[in-house]
Amino acid sequence: MRPAKALIDLGALRHNYALARRLHGGKALAVVKANAYGHGAVVCAHALADLADGFAVACLEEAEGLRAGGITAPILLLEGVFEVSEWARADALGLWVVVHQAEQLEMLAACRPKRPIPVWMKFNSGMNRAGLPLARLPALHAQLAGDPKVASVTLMSHFARADEPECDETRRQFERLRAAMEGVPAPVSICNSAGILGWPGIRGDWARPGIMLYGADPMPGEGHGLRPVMQLGSRIMAVRQLSAGDPVGYGARFVAPRPMRIGLVAMGYADGYPRAVPDGAPVVVAGQRTRIVGRVSMDMLTVDLEGIDADVGSPVELWGGAVSVNEVAAVAGTIAYELLCNVKRVAFEYVQPA
Ligand SMILES: *Cc1c(COP(=O)(O)O)cnc(C)c1O
Repeated sequence: MRPAKALIDLGALRHNYALARRLHGGKALAVVKANAYGHGAVVCAHALADLADGFAVACLEEAEGLRAGGITAPILLLEGVFEVSEWARADALGLWVVVHQAEQLEMLAACRPKRPIPVWMKFNSGMNRAGLPLARLPALHAQLAGDPKVASVTLMSHFARADEPECDETRRQFERLRAAMEGVPAPVSICNSAGILGWPGIRGDWARPGIMLYGADPMPGEGHGLRPVMQLGSRIMAVRQLSAGDPVGYGARFVAPRPMRIGLVAMGYADGYPRAVPDGAPVVVAGQRTRIVGRVSMDMLTVDLEGIDADVGSPVELWGGAVSVNEVAAVAGTIAYELLCNVKRVAFEYVQPA
């Protein structure tokens, strides 16, 4: 069996959820969209089932996957419905539904749910992506609160720059939302992971932690006691001795400056390891830190074994507890979110909580 593997530590996931909930106070929806950021949504949701107040996914199809997998807790659709018929399907599955634009309210008016549906109204407090206008908050709240198709109304908004501790925009978004909510009797949800970790003065009734559950700190510095959940690993499948001047891999991007040993690793961009990493990207071989040399191929990559005690079969960590996914993301010019979501083809192995 090809040794490329994502080892998922469900105890770490539970630790991170409990930390998110405690730091924020109140309740917390565990965000498990995009297959739990690449970790496996059904398994992760089951691992959190006795701790979590509920879950959040992007769309109905993801919620259906969780319900089919036996998840009975509340599930929020973060993008809401895309067509009228989805209100009925959401109703049948007992989902909670975000409304972020007027068309979704029109679809609600056109549907006939059997039971009233819990609705989260998303307002645009400055990100200018999704969200209803803040100026209409009191009127829209009154409209939905009086709608017999609506079981309850929760207010929400989303931060654009909460991962920038020096940036005032997060505080301004919060103030705009607070001003618009003045006197409106509804619970509110504001904080994503960066809000929870970086903005202790900004809180609501519900948190929506995503990336921090998986142990990747969205704030610079990483000192919040999160535990990495995924170890992306593999093994050395071949070892080669190079002479000075020998090129390695596609495009001969790396050329050995002197005689050296390299290892071939069963891991490539088809597994989700980023092709964008430069020579020198960090990797750990048999517990020793070394570097990637040469371009990452679809199924393989090459690592420097000079001064490294390793041979065919030695374990390799691409990211996990020894090399953080944030570190790899930084050298690849992206963010941990994208790397984690992209993991595929590898074998998934789950470590149950102790
Ligand atoms: C994805 C998402 C989250 C989670 O964000 P993280 O940065 O991963 O914590 C929270 N709220 C909304 C609306 C989202 O789409």
